Amino acid sequence: MTKLDLKALITAVADKVAAHAEELTALDQAIGDGDHGLNMKRGFEAVRADADQIAAKPLPEALKAIGTKLVMTVGGASGPLFGTMFLALGKELPAELDRAGFATAFGKAIEAVAARGKSEVGQKTMLDVLYPVQATMAAGASGVEIVAAADAAAEKTVPMKASRGRASFLGDRSIDHMDPGARSVALLVRAVVETAGE
Ligand code: ADP
Ligand code: MG
Ligand code: MG
Repeated sequence: MTKLDLKALITAVADKVAAHAEELTALDQAIGDGDHGLNMKRGFEAVRADADQIAAKPLPEALKAIGTKLVMTVGGASGPLFGTMFLALGKELPAELDRAGFATAFGKAIEAVAARGKSEVGQKTMLDVLYPVQATMAAGASGVEIVAAADAAAEKTVPMKASRGRASFLGDRSIDHMDPGARSVALLVRAVVETAGE
């Protein structure tokens, strides 16, 4: 995490979301309203369109700009939540950025998402991947281990019964499907690790 190429990161994340948009939509068709792939793609394409201006900013300001863009463009329940995550991360980042400091700031950003969503771990949402990823990061795991933790955590949402978001309207019928937002977080984590490496 020494030298971050923000433009490369934005490009990698937008590419990853675009490549998996149909998959995310299919997951949301099963337990939601089928727009999650489109929502995420719209948001990250808007971020990509501004990548040069965003990448020219200091990292905290860049993260806030990404968060603002996502709030404005993703829509749905997930837009304000993903937006909050980047906004809060920008606010919480320490001046002296190292892995431990990043993990602590990321933890605070996740708390902000939980507060915004009035949600907690175990409700079959994006939080069910965010928390384990943060814990793995805080424990000093490698990039490969962090990606594995994210994928495993998304997989663990399959048997869960949703109690937040649209999927909660389905009750027991939300069981046996992966949460779309959880899958999105796993994809974002993979794109970041593939680009930023360790
Ligand atoms: P919508 O449900 O409004 O159509 P999306 O389809 O874009 O929005 O996003 C759905 C995802 O948002 C869910 O899969 C879940 O991960 C996440 N989500 C929804 N509500 C909450 C909440 N209250 N807290 C955390 N995550 C949530
Ligand atoms: Mg939806
Ligand atoms: Mg919707």
